[in-house]
Amino acid sequence: MNNPFENALAQLERATSLVSFHPDFLRVIRHPNRQVRISIPVKMDDGRLEVFEGYRVQFNNARGPYKGGIRFHQDTDIEEVKALAFWMALKCAVVNIPMGGGKGGVTVDPKPFTDGEKERLARGWMRGMADVVGPQKDVPAPDVNTTPQIMEWMADEYGKITGDISGAVITGKPVESGGSQGRGTATAQGGFYVFETLREKLGLPEKCTVAIQGFGNAGQVAAQLWSEAGHKVIAVSDSRAAIVNSEGLDIEALVAHKASTRSVGGFEGAQTIESIDVLYQACDLLIPAALENQIHEENVERIQAKVLLELANGPTTPKADDNLFARGIPVVPDILANAGGVTVSTFEWEQNLKKENWSEQEVFDKLKIIMDREALAIADKATQLNTDLRRAAF
Ligand code: NAD
Repeated sequence: MNNPFENALAQLERATSLVSFHPDFLRVIRHPNRQVRISIPVKMDDGRLEVFEGYRVQFNNARGPYKGGIRFHQDTDIEEVKALAFWMALKCAVVNIPMGGGKGGVTVDPKPFTDGEKERLARGWMRGMADVVGPQKDVPAPDVNTTPQIMEWMADEYGKITGDISGAVITGKPVESGGSQGRGTATAQGGFYVFETLREKLGLPEKCTVAIQGFGNAGQVAAQLWSEAGHKVIAVSDSRAAIVNSEGLDIEALVAHKASTRSVGGFEGAQTIESIDVLYQACDLLIPAALENQIHEENVERIQAKVLLELANGPTTPKADDNLFARGIPVVPDILANAGGVTVSTFEWEQNLKKENWSEQEVFDKLKIIMDREALAIADKATQLNTDLRRAAF
């Protein structure tokens, strides 16, 4: 199995072989500043006590407080969190926001948990981390399997421990509890702005066929945005199944189907296939929006999309990158494509600190300026260096 942190370092080497950086800088940037591991005891509803392992990796804060989401997943470990924290440091620099890179997690499958169990786990994570996070130190956010409600519990716990009730310790909170307008859809929205800005340069038609891996916060909103803009979403997947219809899927009906059955599988008017096969559909645009290491040495030859846009973090391994570059298939990299999430998270932090509430229009206007500007800068850099977009972004 690919170690995501080794992949991240391989990406760094791939990029820094093109441009010379000071060797001291390269030595430092390979190592996280701090790695925190905690044990989180959680009383389950049936009276049992379970203990989960939690993490926070504070990679680099040269640009500002550490920033990055918290993931609850059974496969999460310190190596994964380290890679995700490293990518956050680069991502914040790519979009030029005053934040450093961090990431958190818990090794747990929260799907069978009741709300009470999730709340005790969330509060336990924050109790264990309260002395290392803070509005001027480290500001977490949601990621896979963590929600605005979970952010609210964590913010509340932090307030009880420290007395700081500004909410600026964590972003992605519900709007009525200090969250920002637009945060829930910001990751996919930012990716969509990048897509619109680069579409012609990437050689894509005005109306594209689109396949999306993952149907959570990033993937589901992407399906809605691309389909509302008149593109044809022909395939989507979640962890259980994928569905395909070359005529295009009715996304609103699919959202309702997923909400009631908890899977995209079995959706009427589409063929249900193996989850992984979503990646191999012939389409203009493939959007990985699930987990890392999905497109690798062994399956990259099966990719038929004309362009990839990574809403997930780290979905493409360095060897797969080389293959796609050689085949002339551009990859819009995660540290640009999904940076809308951390950008609006930073807007939320700023609003909490200043006690302001910006309208959704204001949030998206500001987001669009940043995403358009950085997408063009990276595309220009890639042309100038005659390289791929990931190396240019790095
Ligand atoms: P989420 O928990 O809301 O959704 C994850 C989705 O992926 C679910 O639909 C799940 O069923 C699916 N999935 C899981 N394993 C899968 C598999 N093996 N094959 C297919 N689908 C699978 O999480 P999210 O917030 O949408 O995050 C998805 C990706 O986007 C992650 O890589 C995350 O780091 C990245 N990301 C998220 C944000 C954000 O703001 N939420 C920001 C930047 C990047």
